[in-house]
Amino acid sequence: MLNKLYPDTYLDSVDDIDFEMYYKKGIRGIVSDIDNTLVPHGAPADEHIIKVFEKIHGMGIDTCLISNNKKLRVEPFAKAVNSKFIYDAHKPSRESYKKAMELMNTDKESTLFIGDQIFTDIWGANRTGIETVMLKQIDKKEEIQIILKRIPEKLILWLWKRKVRK
Ligand SMILES: [Mg+2]
Repeated sequence: MLNKLYPDTYLDSVDDIDFEMYYKKGIRGIVSDIDNTLVPHGAPADEHIIKVFEKIHGMGIDTCLISNNKKLRVEPFAKAVNSKFIYDAHKPSRESYKKAMELMNTDKESTLFIGDQIFTDIWGANRTGIETVMLKQIDKKEEIQIILKRIPEKLILWLWKRKVRK
């Protein structure tokens, strides 16, 4: 059970992801969360994140944003970074992860997931069988229902780090 909650990799920010390495490993599609993973919650796509997506696409890796947020939030962000997208994704349900792979024409082996929350993002990706990168949440100020999930999340991350160190 715990294994399904562990990320494969944990990094500080999207800038720490070695996309070349993932490309060489065969990754051709990236599924990513938006809020607090790529930008602070609710923030528009800035110059920096637009460049990150240009670089990823330039390498021959497709992208699909999946968010539990509304169309009004997800669509403009996705358009700004030129990405496929799914809103109201109901993560951790597997459906949106599978649909994202369909949209990108990739499979479990050639897809990577990026997100900032264990109980929605990472759990859903693990259930789908996709490799995961968990990023440290950008904004420490979060809604109460997310803060409550961060407490068990910290425990799981602590257990995971202890396991990885062994
Ligand atoms: Mg998030």
